[in-house]
Amino acid sequence: MKKYENGSFRISNVGEKVTLKGWVSKKRNLGGLLFIDLRDRSGIIQLVIRPEDKCYKEAESLKNEYVIEVEGTIVERESKNKNVPTGDIECEVSNLKIINSSIDLPFEIADDVTALEDTRLKYRYLDIRRDPIKNKLILRHQVMLLIRNYLSSLGFVEVETPILCKSTPEGARDYLVPSRIFNGRFYALPQSPQIYKQLLMIGGMEKYFQIARCFRDEDLRADRQPEFTQIDIEMSFIEEEDIWNLIKNLMKKIFQEIKGIDLPKFERISYTDCMNRFGSDKPDLRFKMEIEEISSIFKNTEFQVFSNILKEKGIINAIVLKNHAEDYSRKKIEELTEFVKIYGAKALSYLKVQNKELTGSISKVLSDKEKESLISTLKLEENDLVFVIADQYKVVKTALGALRVKLAHECHLIDENEYKFLWVTNFPMFEYSEEEQRYVAAHHPFTSPNLEDVDKLFTDQEHCFSRAYDLVLNGYELLSGSIRIHDQELQEKVFEAIGMTLEEAKQKFGFFLEAFQYGTPPHGGVGIGLDRLIMILSGTENVRDVIAFPKTASASDLMSEAPNTVDERQLKELGIKLK
Ligand code: ASP
Repeated sequence: MKKYENGSFRISNVGEKVTLKGWVSKKRNLGGLLFIDLRDRSGIIQLVIRPEDKCYKEAESLKNEYVIEVEGTIVERESKNKNVPTGDIECEVSNLKIINSSIDLPFEIADDVTALEDTRLKYRYLDIRRDPIKNKLILRHQVMLLIRNYLSSLGFVEVETPILCKSTPEGARDYLVPSRIFNGRFYALPQSPQIYKQLLMIGGMEKYFQIARCFRDEDLRADRQPEFTQIDIEMSFIEEEDIWNLIKNLMKKIFQEIKGIDLPKFERISYTDCMNRFGSDKPDLRFKMEIEEISSIFKNTEFQVFSNILKEKGIINAIVLKNHAEDYSRKKIEELTEFVKIYGAKALSYLKVQNKELTGSISKVLSDKEKESLISTLKLEENDLVFVIADQYKVVKTALGALRVKLAHECHLIDENEYKFLWVTNFPMFEYSEEEQRYVAAHHPFTSPNLEDVDKLFTDQEHCFSRAYDLVLNGYELLSGSIRIHDQELQEKVFEAIGMTLEEAKQKFGFFLEAFQYGTPPHGGVGIGLDRLIMILSGTENVRDVIAFPKTASASDLMSEAPNTVDERQLKELGIKLK
C-alpha cells in the first residue's frame, strides 16, 4: 500500500528517505533542472531531478497525469513557496518508475478550468481529481460521518429501507421498475422512505435515521437532481419541540465542527406570516426589506387603478429598497417590471425619495395625504426606493417576494458568511392543484392536521392547517417534516379529503392502514436535503458539484450515457413492447 500522503510533508520531515506515488500534475524545466508536482488525494509535493541523475531521461519523458513511483529524500527548498502547504520542502529523486501513462487530457486538472460543465461531466473521473470537486466530496463524507455519530450517540438506529418498493405519495412522479417475474407489474423507486419509517415506528424502533437515496421524476431545477440524498429521521412519543431541538443541535454541531461557526438563534414564523412578510415560504433572512401592507392608506383613493383593485378584494403592498434610489434608472425599473410579470403582476409602481420629495411613476396620481402616510408608515428617508404592487393576494406576495430577493442580490445586501435559519410552521394541510382542479395534500397525506382544524378537513380546506414544518437556511428549504397522523380513522379521513376513496386508499396503502390497528405510537420526523446542506456548507450554487456522478438538467448521465436502450431480450423478459 502507498505509505505517504504527498501533501503532508513539512520542514520537520527534512532528511527522511521516502517512496512516493501519485500523478504528474505539472512538469517544469528550469535551466536543466526538472521540477515535477506529484499529486495524490492529499495534495502535491515538488520533486527535483538533476541532469546528472540516472532517471533524468525518463523524467523528461513524463507527461501530465502519468502515474509514477519515486524514491528520494526530503530536503529544504532554496526558494520557498508560501502558497502550498508543502512549499518549504521538496523531494530529491534518486529513482523513478513509470507505473502508467495517460493520453492527452480533455481539460486541465486545475482549480480554474474553462472547460464546459458538460465536458467535465463526461470525464467526471478526471473532474474529481480537481480540488474544487474532490474537496466537496471529502466534506460530504465528513458531514455524513458527523451526522451518523451524533444521531447514534443519541440512541438513533440507522435502518435501511427498500429501494424496490410501492410508491410513496410525496407529490412527484415515480420512477418505475418493471417486474420480470410478474409481467405488467411495477416497483416504484422511493420518493422518500416515508411509509417505511412510519412502519418502523409501529415496529417499535422509536428513534430511526437513514442516509437515504430518494428518487423523483420531476423536471429539474438548478438545485434538484432526479436522485438525491436525504437524512431521514423519525421519532416516536414526541412533539414538534423535540424534533426542532434535535435538528437545531445537529445543525449547531455541523456548523461548529465544519465551519467553526456558532449559529445564531433559529427564528420561527408561521407559514401565513411568512407569506405576508416575505412572499415566500423559504425567505432569505440575511437581509430585511419585508413586504409592507399599505392597502389601508388607499381606502379612499382617487387613483382608479388602486381603488379598483381594492374593490375586487385585492391588496396593495410595498417593499422599500433603502438608500439605492439613485442606482435605479427608468430603464432599470422597466426591466424589473418585466421581471415581476413572470409572477403574474400586471404593473410595478415605484416612488423615489429625492431632494426630500416623492417622485416616480405614481407620484402625480397620489394625494398629499397619501404621500405623507406612505412616508410615515414606510419610514421613508432620502434616496429610498419604494416598489408597489396592487393585485390579488397571491400575485402581490409572490411578485414582491421574488423582487425582494433580486434587489438584494443586485445591491449586494447579502453577507455570504451569514447563516440564518428559520422554522416555518403551521403549513396549510392542502393546496389547490390547478392541474387536477382539486385540493391535494400540501406535504404528504400522512401529515397530521392541526387538532383544532380537524373539522375543516371537508368544510374549509383552504383554512385547514397542519403540523408540518420546514427548516429554511439562507433562502433554501433545507428540510421538511411533520407530526404524523397515528390514528387510523383520521388517516382514512385525510385520504378521503384529498379525493381518495377508502377503496383506493386500501388498494394503494392497505398494508399501511392495516398496520395502524396494532398500537401505533404518536410519531413525527423530518427529511433533511443532504445535497443542499453540502452545497451551502461548501459555498456552491451548483448541486452537481457536491455529487460524485450527477445527472444533467435533462436527467442524463453524460459519462455512462444513461438512460439508454436495452436488448430486445431484456424487454421480452419484462413483457414490454416499445411503441
Ligand atoms: N418524507 C418527507 C419528504 O421527503 C420528509 C418527512 O416528512 O419526514 O419531504
